Amino acid sequence: METIQRPNNFILHIIEQDLSDNKNNGRIVTRFPPEPNGYLHIGHAKSICLNFGIAGDYQGNCNLRFDDTNPHKENAEFVDAIQKDVQWLGFDWGDHLYFASDYFEKLYEFAVELINKQKAYVCDLTAEEIREYRGTLTQPGANSPYRERSINENLDLFKRMRNGEFADGERVLRAKIDITSPNMNLRDPTLYRIRHGVIHHQTGEAWCIYPMYDYTHPISDALEGVTHSICTLEFEDHRPLYDWVLDNVSVPCHPQQIEFSRLNLEYTVVSKRKLNQLVEEGHVEGWDDPRMPTISGLRRRGYTAAAIRDFCGRIGVTKSDNVVEIGVLENCIREDLNANASRRMAVLHPLKIIIDNFPADKVEELDAINHPQDPSQGIRKIPFTREIFIDREDFREEAPRKYKRLVSGGEVRLRYGYVIRCDEVVKNNQGEIIELHCSYDASTLGADPEGRKVKGVIHWVSASHGVEAEIRLYDRLFNHPTPNQGAGDNDYRERLNPDSLRTLTRCRIEPALADAMPGDRFQFERVGYFCLDQAMVSTDVPVFNRIVTLRDTWAKLEKQHPAG
Ligand code: ATP
Ligand code: MG
Repeated sequence: METIQRPNNFILHIIEQDLSDNKNNGRIVTRFPPEPNGYLHIGHAKSICLNFGIAGDYQGNCNLRFDDTNPHKENAEFVDAIQKDVQWLGFDWGDHLYFASDYFEKLYEFAVELINKQKAYVCDLTAEEIREYRGTLTQPGANSPYRERSINENLDLFKRMRNGEFADGERVLRAKIDITSPNMNLRDPTLYRIRHGVIHHQTGEAWCIYPMYDYTHPISDALEGVTHSICTLEFEDHRPLYDWVLDNVSVPCHPQQIEFSRLNLEYTVVSKRKLNQLVEEGHVEGWDDPRMPTISGLRRRGYTAAAIRDFCGRIGVTKSDNVVEIGVLENCIREDLNANASRRMAVLHPLKIIIDNFPADKVEELDAINHPQDPSQGIRKIPFTREIFIDREDFREEAPRKYKRLVSGGEVRLRYGYVIRCDEVVKNNQGEIIELHCSYDASTLGADPEGRKVKGVIHWVSASHGVEAEIRLYDRLFNHPTPNQGAGDNDYRERLNPDSLRTLTRCRIEPALADAMPGDRFQFERVGYFCLDQAMVSTDVPVFNRIVTLRDTWAKLEKQHPAG
């Protein structure tokens, strides 16, 4: 990956300043801390590129740490999927793979330290009572009646919490900070809660008390020697608690928390909880459904890791909330594929053509270039035969003068082939066109003979040599640019786009595509960019996913009909 010449965002400025002050002895350690309660999405990619990018640019390292303190929502499938996705994006954590659960024993000892310093206490209030006592943004809270327990009583109760003597919710361990603080996060936050009967994917049944995120996170960072703990803006109000924890336990260092604004992307949701709902409720086929904004969905759709990294670079890192246009992401993959994807021909809505003056048993091998700007991709042969398919859209019985494709009695050039003329239109009883009879001009292969005026060039596939395929056309998952906005928390599902997947069967693809490997990407000329599906490999008929259209047709549409 290219190195950054000059700091181009506020976090890099902080890092450069710290380096010039020789803070942390010039070390840079970042971390990416996913909770394994779902698959990673494009928002996580922003955080991954930022954290691993900084480590790469400043000869530091970036830890992959699973923030696994909430076992009933987490599992090993997610742990594996997250590692696969980070690697696929092109990043390497080396030996630095950690689990917050690795620190459970140490976290317990630090909690004992807080109790001994009279900075934590066991509280017997119910969850509801704790909420009432905590007060509101406009009202100070009231101290818990259990706040002044003796050190010894607290130590005893905390130990018995660990030993499983109390039921879920019966007691919690709380920090003793300030119940009147204007910052709600400092009003004696809960540090530990009791959870029986869950099997943790790493620690099994060893624990029945689990530390809270706000307590676990700063200590995990410090134990790993993280220097810059970069997180999203919603944690800004938690920073005083982050610092309080580190100031009150004997950790080896005090990392700096820095917040940036999270990525929001138009026409989709980036929340694991909501994405999980879409999966669980069957609105999509799974976490890797090509319509999902997950890394696995984008990969299956045909996005390249390079395009996603490019996107994360373009959107930048700031502190202001915003929603990124989906066209920005689509342009990244379009540019990548335009430069790199081999060209092929595929007919999505086949209409048969019989070329009457071409011998029935003849197969002529025509030369086709694989990439117009990249000669190194070479050429391939495509068979030309008496019967071919063109797209129904490329023929009109009658058409306006501007129509550059085939019309009754008119001529068109077949891509890499001859000029043909439409002599006869055959219809069925319902008046539907079922095939065309054409003739070809044998003198028109290659360069146009002088003076010959053909209006257009269309793509085609040999009927006898082409291969049948299923083609899936994906559109936006939601038909609203900000599915969450102004809606109740779960109403976003009513904004799902019912036409987000259109499946075309019995499409025809040129024979060279029969050798494609799952994940291979192509430009189907005049149609779009497609990827051979990686999940449907055992089907008889190959399945191609549309990655993106050739041009940003939505931008044009939205100018005409702005989305409301
Ligand atoms: P979600 O709301 O999707 O569950 P999360 O923040 O709870 O996201 P985590 O697994 O805790 O998910 O996230 C791991 C890291 O990724 C955190 O540092 C978090 O700040 C960052 N992150 C999550 N979502 C985004 C986003 N949309 N943009 C940028 N960073 C994000
Ligand atoms: Mg989270």
